[in-house]
Amino acid sequence: MTNKKCPRCRLVNFATDDVCRRCGSLLENSARSFREVESAAPRKPTVLKRALITLGVVALLLFAAYASLLTSSSPISYEQQQIVERAINIIEAKGFDRNAFVLRRFVSYRATDNWWNRWVGHADAYAATNFPFQVVTLYPDFFNLPVDDTERAAVLLHESFHLLGHGEEKAFDGVWRAKRELGWTKERYEATRVWRNVHELTMDYAPSLFQCGAEGHSDCTE
Ligand SMILES: [Zn+2]
Ligand SMILES: [Zn+2]
Repeated sequence: MTNKKCPRCRLVNFATDDVCRRCGSLLENSARSFREVESAAPRKPTVLKRALITLGVVALLLFAAYASLLTSSSPISYEQQQIVERAINIIEAKGFDRNAFVLRRFVSYRATDNWWNRWVGHADAYAATNFPFQVVTLYPDFFNLPVDDTERAAVLLHESFHLLGHGEEKAFDGVWRAKRELGWTKERYEATRVWRNVHELTMDYAPSLFQCGAEGHSDCTE
């Protein structure tokens, strides 16, 4: 119910009053104009309300998309979680704090492809990241092919670049530059399958890393 404000003395009367309780002025007309002012006022809040509803719908859709990525794939096992944890520990111990942080705090690790991966296919044989949903799928090759946790750390470091929003070039470039610091050295790992694999892909995605030396064909990071 809307109260009636007196047009002459400004006293707020009850909505049922026809004349002002203080000065006796007629209230009908003033009551109407008072309501008109009221109905005009909420205009701005309506725009805000609409923006909030839009924001809410977007958030809901994003959450639904995220949930669907999880429900269309299966989680990694407890043993696999331990393996992932050891690899992240190496990344952290070698000083890549930011990368270790996102890998540990923001990621849902999955063992099988979700609908997104099945739809677009995946470039990497070991793992795939769905940015910005921070869902990382770890394929059997991630657990089986690396010779040790350091090689798995190299693979996860690659994924951490995707988690931070970077593309393949930056991911391959970043890992190749970081490999020595990570302990993934040419001397020890050169002959492994993961090394040869990553080396080849890095030459494809970040060719400028291999244009050093007198001939212009040497690895710039060695
Ligand atoms: Zn009055
Ligand atoms: Zn990648």
